[in-house]
Amino acid sequence: MQLLFEISTPGARGTELPGSDVPEAPLEAAFAAPAPPPLPEVGYLDLVRHCTRLAQRNFSVDANFYPLGSCTMKANPKVNEWASSLPGFANLHPLQDATDCQGTLELLYHLRLFLAEIAGLDEVSLQPCAGAHGEWTSLKVIRAYFRDIGQAQRRIVLAPDTAHGTNPASCAMCGASVVTIKSLSNGLTDLDDLKRNLSDEVAAVMVTNPNTVGKFDAHIAEMAKLIHEAGAMLYLDGANMNAILGITRPGDFGADIMHFNTHKTFSTPHGCGGPGAGPIAVRKELAPYLPVPQVVKLPDGRYALDADRPKSIGKVRSFSGQFGVLLRAYAYIRACGPDGLRNVSETAILSANYLAQRVKHIYALPFGPKGELPMANDPCAHEFITVPQAIIDTGVTIMDLAKGLIDRGFHPPTVHFPVPNCLMVEPTETESLATLNDFADALLEMAEQARRDVAPLKNAPSRAVVRRLDEVQAARKPTLTYQR
Ligand SMILES: *Cc1c(COP(=O)(O)O)cnc(C)c1O
Repeated sequence: MQLLFEISTPGARGTELPGSDVPEAPLEAAFAAPAPPPLPEVGYLDLVRHCTRLAQRNFSVDANFYPLGSCTMKANPKVNEWASSLPGFANLHPLQDATDCQGTLELLYHLRLFLAEIAGLDEVSLQPCAGAHGEWTSLKVIRAYFRDIGQAQRRIVLAPDTAHGTNPASCAMCGASVVTIKSLSNGLTDLDDLKRNLSDEVAAVMVTNPNTVGKFDAHIAEMAKLIHEAGAMLYLDGANMNAILGITRPGDFGADIMHFNTHKTFSTPHGCGGPGAGPIAVRKELAPYLPVPQVVKLPDGRYALDADRPKSIGKVRSFSGQFGVLLRAYAYIRACGPDGLRNVSETAILSANYLAQRVKHIYALPFGPKGELPMANDPCAHEFITVPQAIIDTGVTIMDLAKGLIDRGFHPPTVHFPVPNCLMVEPTETESLATLNDFADALLEMAEQARRDVAPLKNAPSRAVVRRLDEVQAARKPTLTYQR
């Protein structure tokens, strides 16, 4: 595919601007470029075709099943796009006076209330712009709280060995040191190891529940009790909220503070590092330290931005956060309603368990009493991990399977996280039974293929725009310029 620069034709135009009806005023020579910048010149239809072709090369939820574990790649309802492009929202200037944008503030205020209710916590800040940013902001809030109550010595954060990489990274960026807590063979946190590591230097324990191996840790209330007895905070990484919406609430099982990933749970588009939002919810003791400004409702019913919070950690993002994304999350929550949200999670769990059961005779489920997963007493949450040892023994790697799925029209699951040699599959609630069956069939067919002849899997993907890259070289010596 050619670059716009390569199809550029001198003089071609996509649109004609009307002639100027004011006198020309030349720029001062010091500011004027010697020549116009070398921008591509293309006609309107050529530009449309170029962009359409580019979009078709993308592997997206709108085009393909995308069971990327931990990422909750559910359908993004188009009605959210409509809502976020309403001119009253889209054309708003962020410096507009609060009196001129009451509707927008009202929306943000209500989103705050919705998220607090879903979290089972007291206050919410909408400012952080990703899950990782929410973690970082939360650790700053926790730090400010402990400083304020005279416990500045609490600088350690405990996190299980299955934690998402952003957890220790956020700690490092906040100057906290991370101590890793072991997991048991059933994938759950080792409570004895937790006890051994709790002390009056621990500020927080970062927990993901359901955790990153797709298990809901039913000991969470007990963990919370231990953590609170040690004077520390239970931080909930809310990336897996898609499994518990309306079923349980982090605040109810003992979390003191958490982040949401609206782009996962509440269906705002993501991928390729695109926009996200990572609102955080806290217990009331932590509320004074939240970022400013906070959207508030005044006694006379008007909405305002309140920056007068002396204990606040300050601003973590320009203006009020990633408004277009927050708006989509609001639209999604309103469209689902309380029963709909619960239905989202129940269906997501059902889909994951259905898939796991369909393939587990080949794609072994490593976390369970007997190294597999008996349906009756140990189901998974909204995602599951498989270590398909029988296939790996044929010489086919996890990466071969991932690339083989691309040839079969599916986005690969997450690989090698949180344990080596695993696939982490998260189907989400928005896929039909037929799609789930097609995916299960593809997984099983690849196992057959591995037994017969490994070559096609080793050479996969053969049908993608880009063939297999050398991932080490791609990271170490990336080619960042376009080459034909
Ligand atoms: C996605 C994810 C994060 C990070 O969230 P971002 O929005 O990508 O910054 C943190 N923890 C877990 C468990 C996740 O799945």
